[in-house]
Amino acid sequence: MERMQVAGVTIRDVWRAQKRIGSIVSKTPLLFSQHLSDRLEANVYLKLENMQPTGAFKLRGAANKILSLTKDEKDKGVATFSTGNHGIAVAHVAKAANIPATVCISRRVPQEKVKKLKRLGAHVEIVGDNQDDAEQYCYELENQSGVTVIKPFDDPEVIAGQGTIALELLEECPEIDQAVIPLSGGGLLAGISLALKSTDATINITGVSMEKGAVMHESLKHGRPIVLKESDTLADSLLGGLGPDNRYTFSMVKQLMDKSVLVSENSIAKGIMFMLEYHKMAIEGAAGAGIGWLLGEESSKYKNIVLVISGNNVDHDTIRSLTGKY
Ligand SMILES: *Cc1c(COP(=O)(O)O)cnc(C)c1O
Repeated sequence: MERMQVAGVTIRDVWRAQKRIGSIVSKTPLLFSQHLSDRLEANVYLKLENMQPTGAFKLRGAANKILSLTKDEKDKGVATFSTGNHGIAVAHVAKAANIPATVCISRRVPQEKVKKLKRLGAHVEIVGDNQDDAEQYCYELENQSGVTVIKPFDDPEVIAGQGTIALELLEECPEIDQAVIPLSGGGLLAGISLALKSTDATINITGVSMEKGAVMHESLKHGRPIVLKESDTLADSLLGGLGPDNRYTFSMVKQLMDKSVLVSENSIAKGIMFMLEYHKMAIEGAAGAGIGWLLGEESSKYKNIVLVISGNNVDHDTIRSLTGKY
């Protein structure tokens, strides 16, 4: 029998990742949602990645990548230009593994975020006026000092790290027949679906993006990675491009995803407020998108549905602005 391998990543890489990241990453709970289950007449479970120590699943990929570096690479340190969940994850892992970490950011990044990264022990380099300047500087640093830039999604070790979510899902819910996964760069979806489909190729993989700026969705329609204008969205963690030379996630998502759905800001808001109301948890828009989509469905042909609740990086003001309206 042939083994499943997409863009060079296999289920064995995912098992390796699970072994490697165990001391840094939490095994997160799988919560049965009675209310969603009743609505859809199916069993709906929520994979609570919002309960990772950093508040998002990105810890898995960052940990797997950083811990897979050679001793020499670790000594030289790691760098990133993300200030969101990936940046926080890189800083957290580097601190835990005693590796120097640099986060390159632009002058426009709010002080609050800068403080958070510094508290995690990262060295913060403030350069330029926008995200592109910070990114460019980060790669200059790589050329000059030999630090390793940890990419947020387009890296086999990062993808395999995110895939460890699927191993936990299969352990707790072997009957899973649909996974609903937030989608941006595609590292999360690629890793999880590689592991699920290696186990049972009939498991349905549904990717969820916001209506405006769904870069993977539009790129798949065009047959190649494209650049989209960014608009304001509640699902800010789903913003960002696929990169000019995407090597892994575009082709993996193309091959592994069965269905791609877009959700409105209104639905995302409903998803966030649903979690607050029924499960008493504050989650961010990227994570609420999947719930928002499911709440809009009348019924489901699947029996055991898992939604990945990808993160909780939401501020009080956002929650306050939605309270009472949804
Ligand atoms: C990064 C992120 C995503 C999307 O993950 P990709 O691997 O880029 O598709 C979804 N939700 C949250 C909370 C994230 O931080």
